[in-house]
Amino acid sequence: MAEDEILVVGGAGYIGSHMCKYLRRRGYRPITLDNLVCGHRAAVQWGPLIEGDIGDRAVLDRIFTGYDIKGVLHFAAYTSVPESVADPLKYYRNNVASTVCLLQAMVAHGVRPLIFSSSCATYGDAGGKALTETHPQQPATPYGRTKWMVEQMLDDFGAAYGIRAVSLRYFNAAGADPDGRIGEDHRPETHLIPIILQTALGQREFLSIYGEDYPTRDGTCVRDYIHVEDLAQAHHLALVRLLDGGAGGKYNLGNGDGFTVREVLDRARKITGETIPARIEARRPGDVPMLIGACEKAMSELGWRPEFCDIDAIIQTAWDWHRRHPDGFADRDKGGAAG
Ligand code: UDP
Repeated sequence: MAEDEILVVGGAGYIGSHMCKYLRRRGYRPITLDNLVCGHRAAVQWGPLIEGDIGDRAVLDRIFTGYDIKGVLHFAAYTSVPESVADPLKYYRNNVASTVCLLQAMVAHGVRPLIFSSSCATYGDAGGKALTETHPQQPATPYGRTKWMVEQMLDDFGAAYGIRAVSLRYFNAAGADPDGRIGEDHRPETHLIPIILQTALGQREFLSIYGEDYPTRDGTCVRDYIHVEDLAQAHHLALVRLLDGGAGGKYNLGNGDGFTVREVLDRARKITGETIPARIEARRPGDVPMLIGACEKAMSELGWRPEFCDIDAIIQTAWDWHRRHPDGFADRDKGGAAG
């Protein structure tokens, strides 16, 4: 029997490439569409890569007619909160306007199931509590607003055109493929764990800790780190439900537990055995003190069972990747697609 073909937009990126690996293991054929602005050619190892943009209707039409696409997983977005504050146009153009183009093409070609990478950045201030899906959505940054706008569009497109969408609101994606074949490689890197590990490798002089006067247990921001493989598991479960004709929905994906910047740094020092120098600096624009997810809904409705619940296991898989690939995908990207 032919494998179901799934379009993974942003499949060359960090979470998208882990998703392609997971899909392949589960018997699907991931078809990656990626403009390689953030993604890596060498991260596409489990199916074909079409180099192009989700804002390009012609390329979408070619894919939807050339392949028998059963559903779409949408990871193609810019993801830096501080960059979205400095350059909101870039975020609205790509994350919102280009998504409209993708949705138009899906409607035109009769492809209804969609899993959308949303974010906990869509929520308003939780006042220190774990966020449930019913918490008011009042995003504090342009990045969060782009994700919230798409979620609302998906509701409207569901009612009007039958698009069936699951929006997955990630907390802080982290870690790497336990087999070590792919990992996190953003350029520039802005995320905490890879920056800490690059400092451990001596690629950076020190870690900048952005603010120590937040109302948290040690003054640094608290985040809920969730392993990228556990995110992939949740997407797969949501996809199976949609392909079986099930309804869409909105789900938090996190571990339900928060760690401060200093706590993550301490754990990383133990795991790497390195000093990892750090300096306190000014707060970073757009940061909120605390983001922790209550994720029971994904567990009860999707049957999600995260496996990397321990922050040490998350940091360890990331460290294994960074240590083995200190330059990320740089060398392999030059040599063309791997695998
Ligand atoms: N952070 C930091 N130094 C860095 C990068 C991040 O102190 O070099 C902090 C950041 O201010 C936030 C937390 O680490 O409080 C997580 O940031 P990240 O960019 O990884 O994810 P975000 O929560 O912004 O999506």
